[in-house]
Amino acid sequence: MQVQRQPKRIVIIGGGITGLAAAHRLLELTKSDQPLEVLLLEGSSRVGGVLKTTERDGFLIEAGADSFISDKPEAIALAHRLGISSRLIETNENHRRSFIVRKGRLRPVPDGFQLLAPTRFWPFVTTDIFSWPGKARMALDLIIPKRAANGDDDESLAEFVRRRLGREAFERMAQPMIGGIYTADPEKLSLRATLPRFLDMEKNHGSVIRAMWKQRRNTTLVSGAMGKKSSSAETGVSGPRYSLFLSFDRGMQVLVDELSARVQDQIRLNTRAESLSLSECGTTWNIRLTDRTSIEADFVCLAIPAYAAAALLQETDAELSHLLNQIEYASTATINLAYRRVDIPHALDGFGFVVPFIESRSILACTFSSVKFAGRAPEEHVLLRAFLGGALQPHLFELGEDEMLRRVREDLRDLLGLVKPPLFSVVQKWRRSMPQYHVGHLDLVSRIRARAQTLPGLHLAGNSYGGAGVPDCIRSGEAAAEKALAPNQ
Ligand SMILES: Cc1cc2nc3c(=O)[nH]c(=O)nc-3n(C[C@H](O)[C@H](O)[C@H](O)COP(=O)(O)OP(=O)(O)OC[C@H]3O[C@@H](n4cnc5c(N)ncnc54)[C@H](O)[C@@H]3O)c2cc1C
Repeated sequence: MQVQRQPKRIVIIGGGITGLAAAHRLLELTKSDQPLEVLLLEGSSRVGGVLKTTERDGFLIEAGADSFISDKPEAIALAHRLGISSRLIETNENHRRSFIVRKGRLRPVPDGFQLLAPTRFWPFVTTDIFSWPGKARMALDLIIPKRAANGDDDESLAEFVRRRLGREAFERMAQPMIGGIYTADPEKLSLRATLPRFLDMEKNHGSVIRAMWKQRRNTTLVSGAMGKKSSSAETGVSGPRYSLFLSFDRGMQVLVDELSARVQDQIRLNTRAESLSLSECGTTWNIRLTDRTSIEADFVCLAIPAYAAAALLQETDAELSHLLNQIEYASTATINLAYRRVDIPHALDGFGFVVPFIESRSILACTFSSVKFAGRAPEEHVLLRAFLGGALQPHLFELGEDEMLRRVREDLRDLLGLVKPPLFSVVQKWRRSMPQYHVGHLDLVSRIRARAQTLPGLHLAGNSYGGAGVPDCIRSGEAAAEKALAPNQ
């Protein structure tokens, strides 16, 4: 008599890009004779998490992420496997530059300036973003001895930049450029967890500027197109080489829609997990839902923020829950504004601008969305997108939408000469959405992983641990799927 094998049940909690990528990878890898049941539980009424594109009056509005970086291969590789790579779009090649606010005016970021330091001499020397003493101080990076190795080489972004390149480089460039990406407090942001290559540059070359020059020379020799293109070898995908940032013709929603179509039979919307407990035999999980029902699982992937995972695990493992709660989050709002082109005096000849904290403005940054990517606004119209809140201005996130809008318009009036009201605006608040990788983050994540390892059939995935960008989340979700199918799980 043949014994019927019980299907292994894998439950993914959280239907953002991480959870979707995990569910999709599971279906991709499952062999037809493998008894497997996959469920994706999403607490809200839609999948995608902080990826959300809507359309209104011919404008394409990104409420969350508007693009992803192409030098991490996972998103491009996934687009290829999903058959949507023809829908990938590059940034507009005419205006690949950005601005930074200095003394209330937009100044172009000097050509060749890479987040912290210059790679080209003349654009750096001639920019008026830095004073002469500030430039001289930055140049001292070439001779300042490297920090003595002390075992723990993590350091905050602020400390590192002030130490190597000086206060001006930090306040006028590094804080808005890098702090802005993570909406973080740079005094706390771990360089090791976010941009380890800068620490390595100091370690290996004794100077950030010298390392960047060398890198630029080598890249120029190899590709002739410094920093603009990622090679197929880097992306692991053969075919076209792309600009540094990519999106899809109809926005990031294309990726979400395609993934959710592939895994639609697995998705359960409006299904929020409340707690997790191990069965008495210690090999299966009981997931209690907020509607008082529960689901059994052999393997659980938590594709939710660390604090949400902490809440679920509180009763099962208070120590793990405590560790997870130590990862802090910042809240950010995006404000999309639609305009007629004639109403904006500024040339909009770039992808947008960032605002240093010392400028005392409300907005953190503003993307000229319809300049950055094609198809974001109808002819003769413009779509702008401002960011508000973050770790340095949490009180602004708590404002009502009208007051947020008033402040954004005030800043856009001063910086772009924009007096007319927008045709319409869309405010989206993302509470506790950006994990803050503070100094010591990597160590904390190792402790979390070690502790989670003691719980059989549990995996933590998502933006809280090893990268918050869309490709990082896809990598993390897919790794969870591979682990779930490993023979010893
Ligand atoms: C404003 C903003 C702009 C960004 N811009 C970019 C960008 O341009 N490029 C880039 O690469 N990255 C960007 N990021 C980062 C990136 O978008 C995110 O890190 C990533 O999308 C997070 O995906 P996730 O699936 O891990 O988490 P989330 O998107 O947060 O999804 C988690 C999901 O889990 C659900 N959930 C939570 N708790 C439970 C529960 N108990 N039960 C069931 N479901 C639950 C939530 O409802 C949610 O749908 C941006 C982030 C923000 C906030």
